[in-house]
Amino acid sequence: MKALVIENLQKIYGNHSVALKGIDLEVEQGDFFALLGPNGAGKSTTIGIISSLVTKSAGKVTVFGMDLGRAPEEAKRIIGLVPQEFNCNGFEKVFDILVTQAGYYGIEPKIAGARAEQRLKQLGLWDKRNECARTLSGGMKRRLMIARALVHEPQLLILDEPTAGVDIELRRSMWQFLQEINAMGTTIILTTHYLEEAEQLCRNIAIIDRGTIIEHGPMKTLLAKL
Ligand code: ADP
Ligand code: ADP
Repeated sequence: MKALVIENLQKIYGNHSVALKGIDLEVEQGDFFALLGPNGAGKSTTIGIISSLVTKSAGKVTVFGMDLGRAPEEAKRIIGLVPQEFNCNGFEKVFDILVTQAGYYGIEPKIAGARAEQRLKQLGLWDKRNECARTLSGGMKRRLMIARALVHEPQLLILDEPTAGVDIELRRSMWQFLQEINAMGTTIILTTHYLEEAEQLCRNIAIIDRGTIIEHGPMKTLLAKL
């Protein structure tokens, strides 16, 4: 089963800002996949389209066999998204953010509370559960968004530049956490402009540059070429 199939995906912002020039991409179920490329390459646009935040101009996206264009709601249930910018309600408490999010997926409060506790403990945020999100440090905000993205137990976790601006110690602990999540069966796709991150974590990789995929395959094959 493929977690993700992208066929001839195109995006033009406005009338002439071409962000994606017809890309093809496949990600296997269970994979840990990196979309690597410089700023402006089209990484955020690609994951924005997969997570239904950005409308595509042309092409097809299939998530676990479901056509995103035909079954957007079903696809959303399968996906957890960690955006680049902090976008939680800063005035809501950490624990409540997770329970509120679970509510959007129809998860009952008791189960939501148990999941929130588990994730906050795993991510080292349990002590902060009663703090307002806006008071957290940058690294904590990042971890809160990861916990929030996992609350409905998605099959596919997508992270946009998850460790940008995070110090090396926290980066390593986030990497370890993501590897554990992947080992438990969640397919992970992350974007990065940072080869070391892809090298540390990912089995397969695509390199995107100016809206075109220029490499796609196993990390090992790519590293052998460099
Ligand atoms: P759409 O294709 O969804 O209609 P628009 O071209 O209308 O997108 O732009 C959406 C928003 O992104 C606008 O508010 C615009 O100001 C902003 N925007 C425009 N150019 C850029 C850019 N190069 N990078 C990031 N945001 C931009
Ligand atoms: P990356 O995530 O790899 O940095 P993006 O997907 O954000 O790349 O951007 C791809 C291209 O699309 C860039 O040229 C960017 O300026 C442009 N772009 C992104 N968002 C918008 C927008 N809302 N409106 C117009 N152009 C945009």
